[in-house]
Amino acid sequence: MKIFVNEILPEGMDLEEKMGPSVLDLETDQIHFTDGLDIKAHIEKDKDIVTVDCSAKGVEKRTCSRCLSEFSASIDKRMNFIFQLEGERTIELDDKIKDEVILDHPIRMLCKPDCKGLCALCGKNLSSALCKCKE
Ligand SMILES: [Zn+2]
Ligand SMILES: [Zn+2]
Repeated sequence: MKIFVNEILPEGMDLEEKMGPSVLDLETDQIHFTDGLDIKAHIEKDKDIVTVDCSAKGVEKRTCSRCLSEFSASIDKRMNFIFQLEGERTIELDDKIKDEVILDHPIRMLCKPDCKGLCALCGKNLSSALCKCKE
């Protein structure tokens, strides 16, 4: 999302944009927003200070750290940015939003808090079926 500073009205400005998966692409390859993120921003300007109140919504496809099954998690994140202008005519928000989303991202992701994981012997998903290895 790009803000053109001279388009910010005295009463503020609202922007909406869809951030596609390619914009969000991350080197770690850990984060998958297959449908992208919906970004909404309210922007205000007071002399050289620009404040952005912004939200990012989307559905993330995650892989459970224990049982390796895929599941979806909804993301609804609010963030605030303040910029001190030094003659810039545009403000680029994509990297800032990306940083915030990564910062919030859990290192371990579980499909449910009590996921039992996979059996070390037969590889069965112990949350959906119990195997007989330990009997
Ligand atoms: Zn799991
Ligand atoms: Zn087993």
